[in-house]
Amino acid sequence: MFRQAITTLLFTLLFPLLSATALAEDSALKLYVFDCGSIRLPTVVDFGIQDDETKVRELVVPCYIIEHEKGLLLWDGGMPSSTAKTEGYDEEGGRLDRTFAEQIKTLNLDMGSFDFVAFSHFHYDHVGIANEITDAELIIQKAEYESAFAEKVTNPYFSPELYAGLKDLDATIIEGDFDVFGDGSVEIISAYGHTPGHQVLYLNLPNYGPLILSGDLYHFRLSRTDRRVPSFNHDARMTLKAMDKVEALVKERKAKFWIEHDMALFKTLKLAPAYYD
Ligand SMILES: [Zn+2]
Repeated sequence: MFRQAITTLLFTLLFPLLSATALAEDSALKLYVFDCGSIRLPTVVDFGIQDDETKVRELVVPCYIIEHEKGLLLWDGGMPSSTAKTEGYDEEGGRLDRTFAEQIKTLNLDMGSFDFVAFSHFHYDHVGIANEITDAELIIQKAEYESAFAEKVTNPYFSPELYAGLKDLDATIIEGDFDVFGDGSVEIISAYGHTPGHQVLYLNLPNYGPLILSGDLYHFRLSRTDRRVPSFNHDARMTLKAMDKVEALVKERKAKFWIEHDMALFKTLKLAPAYYD
């Protein structure tokens, strides 16, 4: 009887602890990676690279979902879903095998599931699914917002028809770095230059460790090792400053660094429903 009472007491005391541990494990930060298309390039000279300096002519276009106990963040929106209508590569050199909306069904998600959406920048291969987002908070740099949503969009590389629907979402307009969930585990880092308000994403994954997703700070490995700036960037000097800033952060936090468009890297990654945590 006494022993049973002790057991019951111990259980009563320990159970909340045990269940709290289980919850903590369930809610650990997770990163899901998706194949949101690819781009075939006839030449790489626009990226500040001579054609004989690299054999790479194919860029992968990923999308990412970050699951945090306080909500779901979509980072980058891939190729326009209409690209999936063509089998293989279309005339513009774009490919998309399965739409993102189709792919996220494996996680029991739909396009209304996101709490937050953020894009490294507003080029077509990063906001392809933007108009399909129906209910989320948009996190965007002020400079990107002002350029992308200007009354008359003058940036020749922005296609407002691809992302006009985002205007209806609640927006958190930021200037600089932003701690998304308030615990330092997911931070948007301003890295202007590729576009006026380009940004990269820092994640502190409990098991995989610190990781930075590049946006288009670099497209090729050579862009990073040789600090090459594409000719179509909004501002070359700002780009070089952004490279300095992000590389300092990589060092300081001992972070891994993924060049988002790096097809060779992408082929080594596990895709959703598998995840990094
Ligand atoms: Zn891109």
